[in-house]
Amino acid sequence: MKYDIIIIGAGPGGIFSAYELSLGNPELKIAVFEAGHALDRRHCPIDGEKIKSCISCKSCSIMSGFGGAGAFSDGKYNITNDFGGTLHKYIGKKKATELMRYVDEINMRYGGAGTKLYTTAGSAFSTECIKHDLHLLNASVRHLGTDVNYVVLGNLYNELKDKVDFFFDSTVDSISIIDGGYEIKSLGKSYECERCIVSVGRIGSKWMERVCRELDIPTRSNRVDIGVRVELPAEVFAHITDELYESKIVYRTPKYGDRVRTFCMNPRGAVVNENTNGIITVNGHSYEDPAKQTSNTNFALLVAKHFSEPFKDSNGYGESIARLSNMLGGGVIVQRFGDLIKGQRSTESRIEESFITPTLKATPGDLSLVLPKRILDGIIEMIYALDKVAPGTANDDTLLYGVEVKFYNMEVNVDENLESPHKGLYIIGDGSGITHSLSHASASGVHVARNILSKR
Ligand SMILES: Cc1cc2nc3c(=O)[nH]c(=O)nc-3n(C[C@H](O)[C@H](O)[C@H](O)COP(=O)(O)OP(=O)(O)OC[C@H]3O[C@@H](n4cnc5c(N)ncnc54)[C@H](O)[C@@H]3O)c2cc1C
Repeated sequence: MKYDIIIIGAGPGGIFSAYELSLGNPELKIAVFEAGHALDRRHCPIDGEKIKSCISCKSCSIMSGFGGAGAFSDGKYNITNDFGGTLHKYIGKKKATELMRYVDEINMRYGGAGTKLYTTAGSAFSTECIKHDLHLLNASVRHLGTDVNYVVLGNLYNELKDKVDFFFDSTVDSISIIDGGYEIKSLGKSYECERCIVSVGRIGSKWMERVCRELDIPTRSNRVDIGVRVELPAEVFAHITDELYESKIVYRTPKYGDRVRTFCMNPRGAVVNENTNGIITVNGHSYEDPAKQTSNTNFALLVAKHFSEPFKDSNGYGESIARLSNMLGGGVIVQRFGDLIKGQRSTESRIEESFITPTLKATPGDLSLVLPKRILDGIIEMIYALDKVAPGTANDDTLLYGVEVKFYNMEVNVDENLESPHKGLYIIGDGSGITHSLSHASASGVHVARNILSKR
């Protein structure tokens, strides 16, 4: 089987490459290989009743399949160069912003119209933050919500399905360089292409490392973010989330000078498990539809850990901490902030007696047995700092779920076209280590597609 272009991974990066390529040149023969299921077959078995926690499915429907890790996400498309990746370092800030806006336009055309676009520009909250040495990052945030995000993905699939050959449940095992292009192997069969776009996301990080080793593509890696997911009554953050929806607030802790930041804020949302390579961590999402909303807001507090030589395995460090929480709690651990401060573990009864109902069934425990002191101290300092702009954050009943880990793929050596040292082999999205978000990953897909179109 011979294609002009093979795309590996049907997350936002892969989808937007396929979209832009088929739009720009309908004659192109394009195939998309995806390890996970088609969108309508993606289903996480956790129902809260019969199956309460992760059973480690062969293909995790939360992380894999058409739509990638973003399919059941909150669908927050942050249009900014301040966070979500470093695409701008490769293609420039202006172009990166333009591409993110273009992606937003497409999302609106395919079912997102009517959803809200929030912005931090001119927000009084920014001034309030600075008074307390908290720093609000600039962004426009399109909140599709998990429900609308799913509709948009469904519409994009319908648009593409007759123009592109989709191979679902088809993990790509290897990529090799052949005369005039590349050969990929999936389920024992070989497929050839002139150009190959690799967009395997975070779940494909280990595979990506192997491919880079095999093809001699230089990489570097030195960062992991570790922390907790905070859950509290929606009222505590309502004055912020009603105006901005998502606020990325950064704080430099007085004790160690570490940077702690809020991440992935989900007003009236739910806390969920995340399974990365068999390790259970925590995440969150929320729905646009008021009928599906909860009375809690959740967000992550993350401490960025940068390592220097000789240590190279930053993700391994994060995994070890997550494994510790899995070992003690059988999965994610939940603790009341009050219990953490008093130095006692949370118990079922203390959680039941508290004024907040957890949205995730997690094991009550003691996060101080899991998180390194430096990270835990940073989180506690940040909670007290946030309490000044959102009083109630440091209440005893505030729930902390751990651990939340943001693994960063090693950064792959690519040029301004996101092309590897091997011509015609592009590495994009979260799998490249350059992006960490829906908007940046999607924009990287459009960028590469346009580059390929311009060369043909
Ligand atoms: C629960 C959750 C909530 C999130 N919420 C948000 C949010 O609100 N806003 C935001 O900006 N970001 C969010 N994110 C992050 C966001 O989903 C990712 O940044 C984005 O999906 C990255 O897109 P991608 O295309 O690079 O990779 P992915 O979306 O990870 O897609 C990669 C795809 O490649 C496939 N794949 C991997 N290896 C292979 C292989 N060898 N062969 C074939 N296929 C392979 C995978 O199965 C996967 O489907 C969230 C993530 C999660 C898990």
